[in-house]
Amino acid sequence: MENLRFAALEDIQHPESTSKGNNHSGNGMNHTRITAFFGSNVFNRKAMREYLSDESFKSLTTSIQSGSKIDRKMAGQIAAGMKTWAMDKGVSHYTHWFQPLTGTTAEKHDAFFSISKDGTPIENFDGDSLVQQEPDASSFPSGGLRATFEARGYTAWDPSSPAFIMDMGSGKTLCIPTVFISYTGESLDYKGPLLKAIASLDKAATEVCNYFDKNVTRVTPTLGWEQEYFLIDARLADARPDLLMCERTVVGHPPAKGQQLEDHYFGTIPERAYAFMRDLEIECYKLGIPLKTRHNEVAPAQFECAPIFEDVNIAVDHNSLLMDVMNKVALRHQFRVLLHEKPFAGINGSGKHNNWSMSTDTGVNLLSPGKTPKTNLMFLTFFINTIKGAYDYADVLRASIASAGNDFRLGANEAPPAIISVFIGRYLHEVLNEIETRVDHKFDEQDEAILKLDLHRHIPEVLLDNTDRNRTSPFAFTGNKFEFRAVGSSANCASAMTVLNTIMAETLTQFKKDVDKLIDKGEKKEIAILQVLQNYIVKSKDILFDGDGYGEEWVKEAEKRKLPNIKTTPHALEALISSKSIKLFRDMGIYSEKELHARYEILLEDYMKKVQIDARVIGDLCTSFILPSAIKYQNHLISNIKGLKEIGLKEDAYDAQKRILAKISEHIQIITRNVEDMIEARKKANKIKDAHQRAVDYCEKIKPYFDIIRYHCDKLEFLVDDEYWKLPKYRELLFLR
Ligand code: ADP
Ligand code: MG
Repeated sequence: MENLRFAALEDIQHPESTSKGNNHSGNGMNHTRITAFFGSNVFNRKAMREYLSDESFKSLTTSIQSGSKIDRKMAGQIAAGMKTWAMDKGVSHYTHWFQPLTGTTAEKHDAFFSISKDGTPIENFDGDSLVQQEPDASSFPSGGLRATFEARGYTAWDPSSPAFIMDMGSGKTLCIPTVFISYTGESLDYKGPLLKAIASLDKAATEVCNYFDKNVTRVTPTLGWEQEYFLIDARLADARPDLLMCERTVVGHPPAKGQQLEDHYFGTIPERAYAFMRDLEIECYKLGIPLKTRHNEVAPAQFECAPIFEDVNIAVDHNSLLMDVMNKVALRHQFRVLLHEKPFAGINGSGKHNNWSMSTDTGVNLLSPGKTPKTNLMFLTFFINTIKGAYDYADVLRASIASAGNDFRLGANEAPPAIISVFIGRYLHEVLNEIETRVDHKFDEQDEAILKLDLHRHIPEVLLDNTDRNRTSPFAFTGNKFEFRAVGSSANCASAMTVLNTIMAETLTQFKKDVDKLIDKGEKKEIAILQVLQNYIVKSKDILFDGDGYGEEWVKEAEKRKLPNIKTTPHALEALISSKSIKLFRDMGIYSEKELHARYEILLEDYMKKVQIDARVIGDLCTSFILPSAIKYQNHLISNIKGLKEIGLKEDAYDAQKRILAKISEHIQIITRNVEDMIEARKKANKIKDAHQRAVDYCEKIKPYFDIIRYHCDKLEFLVDDEYWKLPKYRELLFLR
């Protein structure tokens, strides 16, 4: 068979082959104003108005706003309207679109087409098909909630996220966002629990808001994600089995030039990548995803895109959708998108910063410092409660971002550490210090006035302070929102967002109780609030850290402060099933204990499988790619030495060849032995019945082989003649445009 690496390199040398895929670029929309087609494939308010009767329009919009159920009769009318809208746009099929715990999105297409009782073919889509479906769910993970023989899970329409048309590849499909539930009512997906967490936060936060403003009736969490990714030539990626199977390179000698020059960040976007981005943006705009920024990231071939923030619910769907669309658009451009957290050793990994805040139905961002002393107290209330939530549940937050891929990133010295800490900047520190030291139990009215004024005076400085913020913090306050930076690039944001919003719901519920207790004792409202806040600062200030999160000193300091530093997924996940966590999720109505255990098992299983695949791919690559190349080159050297001997040259004429030969032999030996040992360790681990112990074994007994084997493979890549090497090298993957 021809060498795929050279075939790919050859192909890339011809620019016409590269631009082949580019004729899709922009789909003729390049020069159209975004506002002219933004949301054109979304069943949004405008489409609803046009295609629904007054009655069904009202019913749908009310239920979107209040989260109430839609009655079955209305569902029939809404389905009919949706169908007409979709068919007017050339759609033939529909699907219930959902986000199972496998981490991707799922769909099963059905045609509108049907046969009526008298045999006439008709186009049909009734209320029942809109509201509920029963996909054969037996092959989605359920953590034992749903025995395989009883395959019935069902998907239920989530009217709060609008239906949309996926118009890519062959055919157009109407996608109906749904939640995925087991026959016995347990959540099997990401969205169900997220919606519950949002509702729970709404209730708790609205009550707290009412201390300050009686007009607030609803609080919605907001999310603006930033998606980092690598863009690699598809032909080169296809020549690397590790990229195909694991989305990361398991071997590869570092290139002479890596990211040390830092010349890629915010540099000019390469032409080919630019064409991809524009095409991606157009597809996203049609789907109503409000992409706003695009730029190069720190590593070569690494990029980022980010939208304008939205309600968490919608933002989560849009991010899942984006990840789907990215892969599809990349194919048109002969690219492959890598969403893995660490595709290349020695080069920055990818994250997905989750910018999070809460906003009221009166239009106030609760994490934005206010303009008056009164609104400032409201800001401080939500700000300090967030810090307390992060402190109390740091381990649960850590669990929410744990995955096999993110383990390669967290704690390495280019990504947030596995220690959850909160950055707030110098001025807010001063504000907190002031509250801590000046609010005492005999707090009088005059102090109150002074304190408020002082807080107020600082606000412009706070905003200034947070524009140039610390990028090493996993959870940073950035002026008017918190940025959860430790989330992995391939993650479904719902995981982190469910946990964060649940934590906030619990913290705010407790806050309300604490304040009410003081008010009941006769304390004035503002003073009661300040006293509780002071108490929270004292309790949770250990999580505040503004220094270098990547440094060794912080690890030591965090240990002194007793902050958890959990480096690997199997151990991080343990926090999910602690009694504290079970109580949290049960009290807030998010997960039953059974659901939580199921989720824990699914996540452990997912981790184990990913490490298992990595291990298999490493074994395969060594056996069928790397060792054969090395042996071929050895033979080449041997005949060279023989030849030199034959023509009568002395030993020192082929001494260098002999030394290279010896080195190669040694690496071959070590690789072979370690691959054999790794396979043995895997066999042992596979026999372990307990899911947690099995995952721990994969983490602690099998994964350590990866680095050892890789070290020797990379040495071989360096020693062996380039002609013999079959795997595209880092310099080709990262620097060829
Ligand atoms: P960075 O310097 O971190 O790259 P950006 O300005 O690019 O910052 O990204 C900030 C992100 O935060 C954007 O996605 C933006 O929409 C989002 N954001 C801004 N305000 C809020 C808010 N109130 N709630 C949630 N996200 C927000
Ligand atoms: Mg950011």
